[in-house]
Amino acid sequence: MPELRQNRFTKEWVIIATERAKRPEELKVNRPEVKPLPSYSPTCPFCPGNEQLAPTEFLRINGPDGKWRARVVANKFAALSREGEPTRKVEKSKRTINGVGMHEVIIEGPNHALTTALLPDDHVTSILTAYKLRYDEISRDPRITQVTIFKNHGTAAGASLEHPHSQLIAAPVISHQVRDRMFEALRHYDEFGECIFCQMIAEEIDENARVVMVTDHFVVLEPFASPTPFTTHIYPRRHMASFGDVSMEELADLGHTLRTLLGKLYFGLDDPDFNYTVRTAPSENAGVKYYHWHISVIPRLTRVAGFELGSGMFINTVLPEAAAEFLRNANADKASVEKAG
Ligand SMILES: [Zn+2]
Ligand SMILES: [Zn+2]
Repeated sequence: MPELRQNRFTKEWVIIATERAKRPEELKVNRPEVKPLPSYSPTCPFCPGNEQLAPTEFLRINGPDGKWRARVVANKFAALSREGEPTRKVEKSKRTINGVGMHEVIIEGPNHALTTALLPDDHVTSILTAYKLRYDEISRDPRITQVTIFKNHGTAAGASLEHPHSQLIAAPVISHQVRDRMFEALRHYDEFGECIFCQMIAEEIDENARVVMVTDHFVVLEPFASPTPFTTHIYPRRHMASFGDVSMEELADLGHTLRTLLGKLYFGLDDPDFNYTVRTAPSENAGVKYYHWHISVIPRLTRVAGFELGSGMFINTVLPEAAAEFLRNANADKASVEKAG
């Protein structure tokens, strides 16, 4: 019998289609032979030597060799405008706000072909450090209330440029999705006096059915009511509402943790397209006891279709427990793939 599971953080229901469940390896991408990307593309605005094509640079993080590892630049096709005031207008039933905000691109390294899964751990930490430094600075701008950091990898995930990059959009409003999750977490805290995420993390580590890996500071797991195959969350083990509260020591561990997870997806499922996003409490709620920031990694292995759009309910064809077991056993780097033959 299929099973409906409730996502306690959103109250949404998911159909776990155990009857037509697929073995995780059936979702392997099996790409037709594609030409590997070159490590340098002369027309790419993010490749070294073309820095003048991505005009405004906000931050540059160099590696020990003195060359840049991460650059943060203005998005040439920004969704929001950096200048002006977010004036709110209410006119009869219509509400509008001037489209003020920031839209930045984090270029994740000089090599055009090296996706996160193939980078050294400490390079991934440099990318995460760029996120944190921009998050901190932008959060101090009084016009900004919500900062979203995300990555689109591959065309099915919405990436339009090949060169590895992620993005940050800072908006003058808090979205309904974020508000809703904050409210649900607050309701749980009011009733039980504890963070709903801390409670879940302790339970998941104890049950050990959906945990992919545990490091000094983070736990990687498949959510119980996972909406799509291989949706994977990375939670800090210490309670923290805001991404802005992460320490440098934790960022070093997170570089290793995120790289390892993306490596397992890359080698285990043949480089699937994916999105990831940092889900943090808005900065005005930094320090609250009821919310817990995390990273959500969503491989794009299946398509969202009519039922999902019409009902807001997802059908997941891979058991989260089976996905966790698959990822626990998947090799995370080239050396171990070759050793396994
Ligand atoms: Zn490039
Ligand atoms: Zn917590």
